[in-house]
Amino acid sequence: MFIGHFAVGFAAKKFAPRTSLAVLLAAPLFSDLLWPPFLLIGWEHMRIDPGNTKFTPFDLYDYPWSHSLVMCAVWATAFAFLHHLITHYRPGTIAIWIGVMSHWFLDWITHRPDMPLYPGGPRYGLGLWDSIPGTMIVEFAMFGIGVWLYVRATRPRDRIGRYAFLAYVALLLVAYVADRCSPPPTSPAEVAWPGLVMGVVMLVWAWWFDRHRAIRE
Ligand SMILES: [Zn+2]
Repeated sequence: MFIGHFAVGFAAKKFAPRTSLAVLLAAPLFSDLLWPPFLLIGWEHMRIDPGNTKFTPFDLYDYPWSHSLVMCAVWATAFAFLHHLITHYRPGTIAIWIGVMSHWFLDWITHRPDMPLYPGGPRYGLGLWDSIPGTMIVEFAMFGIGVWLYVRATRPRDRIGRYAFLAYVALLLVAYVADRCSPPPTSPAEVAWPGLVMGVVMLVWAWWFDRHRAIRE
């Protein structure tokens, strides 16, 4: 899943308005933020296998540290605890914990059975990725609801708050569709490096426009 994870972060703003959108997005994206560096340092592995599912050419056969349910719970608890220590803002802490956990369940719905329960444990997946229309309908619907909740929770303070936000949403939608139409990458590094850069850029960008939006009372 891709923009569906962003949807969770956008929606969370409604429940934890004082927490930066960048933090609220980092939570549901957490497993996918860890994955590129873990691939690059060789802790996790994948191979390019066109046709693995209809939606993606990735064979995700080994990613226990970023994508097992038990490790998700560890990351969720660590991230939420750190947030609690720094801010003592309970809605944000709860949103972070649920956000990080949500990644496993959303990937479980979309992936074929490659989502481990714990490192070395049994793997599960419902395989929504075997249907391109099914995947896109679910993700577009989630994204629409998430962005709508964010728009209901905040209003632009200035041009940056309006246009940097709109550009962000547009870029995610274009990237999501363009990715379906482009040829598969040739190596894991060709997946990991853009993933790493994209993750950092999208979080900094969200932090930037979110500061230019006010909470609606
Ligand atoms: Zn994932």
